[in-house]
Amino acid sequence: MANDCVFCKIIRKEVPTQPIHEDHDLLAFPDISPIAPVHVLVVPKEHMVNLNEAGVKDVPVLGRMLRLAARIANEMGVAETGYRVVINNGDEGGQLVPHLHLHLIGGKALDQKLG
Ligand code: AMP
Ligand code: ZN
Repeated sequence: MANDCVFCKIIRKEVPTQPIHEDHDLLAFPDISPIAPVHVLVVPKEHMVNLNEAGVKDVPVLGRMLRLAARIANEMGVAETGYRVVINNGDEGGQLVPHLHLHLIGGKALDQKLG
């Protein structure tokens, strides 16, 4: 846990959200500035800045993040139409919040250009 991290504050329920899923090691909640009809963030409860800090011990939780994204995509009705899963890492990767998170984006045709 990092005291001044906004996602840690959401995990500690110090900042409000509307959880989509919560379990022992993951939390999923809507992005506050959605870029598509479906825009959900999946975060590990353990604070790590990004994939650079993820080690072998974190492989199971990384896998669960992907599985949960697919499950939420299905629950939100975009599994068949398609969706994007993105993890931004570092400044040039476009990362604004320094707590590892996965974006699940869908519900519209997304630009094929990634960068
Ligand atoms: P990134 O650029 O990958 O670090 O994305 C950070 C994302 O977090 C952005 O899409 C923000 O809109 C989102 N965000 C920031 N603060 C909050 C918050 N309090 N609740 C939900 N989403 C947030
Ligand atoms: Zn954090």
